[in-house]
Amino acid sequence: MRTKLKLLFIVAIMLLGLTAATIINISLNFRDYSIESAIEKSKMTATIVKDGLTAHMVNGIMDKREYFLNQISANNKSVKSLWLVRSEHVIKQYGEGLNEETVRDAIDKKVLSTGETVRKIIESPNDITLRVTIPYKATVDGGSTNCLSCHEAKRGDTLGAISMEFDISDMRTSGMITILKILGINMLFLIIVLFLLNHYVTPYMKLFSNLQSGIKKAYSGDFTHNFKTTVGGDAKNIVDQMNTLFSKMQETFGDIKYNLATFIPQGCVSSADPLHEAKTIINELSDVYKFKKTIELDASKAEVYKRIIDILKLKYNLNNFAFYETNNITNERTLFFNTDESALICKDKIDKDASDCRAYRTKSVTISTEFPNLCQSCLSDKQNYVCIPFTINKDISLTISITGETEDEIEEITSHITSIKHYFEAAKPVIESQILMGKLRDTSLRDGMTGLHNRRFLEETIDQIMSKSERNSDTYSVMMLDVDFFKMVNDTYGHDIGDKVIVELACVIKESIREADLAIRYGGEEFVLLLHNANNEGALEVAKKIHAAFANLKFQVGSGEVLQKTISIGIAKFPTDGDTIWKCIKYADTALYVAKNTGRNKIVEFTADMFESEDF
Ligand code: GH3
Ligand code: MG
Ligand code: MG
Repeated sequence: MRTKLKLLFIVAIMLLGLTAATIINISLNFRDYSIESAIEKSKMTATIVKDGLTAHMVNGIMDKREYFLNQISANNKSVKSLWLVRSEHVIKQYGEGLNEETVRDAIDKKVLSTGETVRKIIESPNDITLRVTIPYKATVDGGSTNCLSCHEAKRGDTLGAISMEFDISDMRTSGMITILKILGINMLFLIIVLFLLNHYVTPYMKLFSNLQSGIKKAYSGDFTHNFKTTVGGDAKNIVDQMNTLFSKMQETFGDIKYNLATFIPQGCVSSADPLHEAKTIINELSDVYKFKKTIELDASKAEVYKRIIDILKLKYNLNNFAFYETNNITNERTLFFNTDESALICKDKIDKDASDCRAYRTKSVTISTEFPNLCQSCLSDKQNYVCIPFTINKDISLTISITGETEDEIEEITSHITSIKHYFEAAKPVIESQILMGKLRDTSLRDGMTGLHNRRFLEETIDQIMSKSERNSDTYSVMMLDVDFFKMVNDTYGHDIGDKVIVELACVIKESIREADLAIRYGGEEFVLLLHNANNEGALEVAKKIHAAFANLKFQVGSGEVLQKTISIGIAKFPTDGDTIWKCIKYADTALYVAKNTGRNKIVEFTADMFESEDF
């Protein structure tokens, strides 16, 4: 509608401009014409007066000229006044003349002295006067009039002048009337033009406005608009084509949106714009697909977790969060990653029993802004957080605890929850298979009976242990343990009792070592221990502890009989005794051999001279 008003306004301005130009042009021409015609009239009057006076002179009735002059002005309404002026020549020859025939003003004086006609327009609010003063010159025209025959003057001398004042106020009135007529006609024309323009343009304007609102809706993804017009021809064709195009678009985008939504398990964005929605879903799908392809080739669960952390940092620009893994059976929670200390917002007890973590317990996203002090295991009730739980399988759950400075930040984070969950969904089968693989791997590297690592584990990890120890200058006390006269147990009490002895020894070992130490069931009833960074005294102490604890164990072997066994231990130090752990295991075995050969039930530390000893 604004366009129509603009168009009408422009046309009106143009027509008004044209009217103004016409009026100005006519006014100027009218004025020029009126002045010209008054001048012509003055010339004619001057000639009549001159001829009349000459006739009076020739007829010798010059003294009757006043009547003649009065009649001229009386018979011509437009002549306001008329008077004659005598020059010095005539005054000298014929005297002053009548009373009014003297110089009246500067114009008279100027005309007598210069012999030139003077014209002047005198305007006042009430009237317009044209003052004309025309000189009479001494002429000899060869006819009956010969000025020089009466006047003592030379040819061309100014004998006198005639001054006239014409009222040309009529010019102004007529001009005004003409202008008003033109204005009236033009206004009428303008109204007719605007009316016709409005009549013919309005349907097009309505069509444009209809097209505009349809296209506007289409920008926001709504293709349901029905285009309408009362105009026929091309406009009708356009409307029909637009309606067909829009219904196809609506159908197509609806299908795309529906089909794409099936790829996103928990729904994606929800907007009224199917185009935008389709684009967002495709981008999301593409990102999640790339992520999934990448993690499928990752070597471990930890690598997958790191990828999720990278996505949180890089895609969602999260810079304050903690990533936890919880054991669903024991409810024990392990912190896998945190951006910094401020991301750790849970009370310590949660790590031991995650059932107090609201997000983990309820399996639903916990957002601090939903209720005051929502998670009561949070260190502060002022903390802003979004905690997203995700169950991987019956054993493991993940939780991301994202913290924010302000409620706006929390709102921003909340908007990413659905998208973040897509990554978890994509990672879920990969993590599950990593867990399974890990379990299988762990099974193959562990001894089923004692739960300790087996010899294969040692063989597979020894290189890593070595390189780590080189990097960190780690030391190891290597111990080899063996039950004394174990064969006898089997032979006397059976294999079950033998197994029990082995399992109990493994328990004693587990209880006696630290987390950084490694215990390996090396053979039947032989164990290898790698005590991390233990000095001589420390290692010996551990050995004595195990030795004594095992010796104190009492095994019920039936009919009230109790069995007690002892062990022998050989110790070597890495890298003091040998530059590889394998060598040190061998030296620990050597020391064990010496222990066996020198009475058993003892702890022997390896010394280089053992190879020469009789006991070896
Ligand atoms: P020594 O004091 O010299 O060590 O004498 P020993 O009898 O203990 O001799 P050795 O260490 O060679 O004996 C190992 C025995 O352990 C041989 C094997 O029958 C038994 N054995 C190995 N693995 C197992 C097991 O898993 N269960 C049981 N019950 N016995 C095992
Ligand atoms: Mg033995
Ligand atoms: Mg043995």
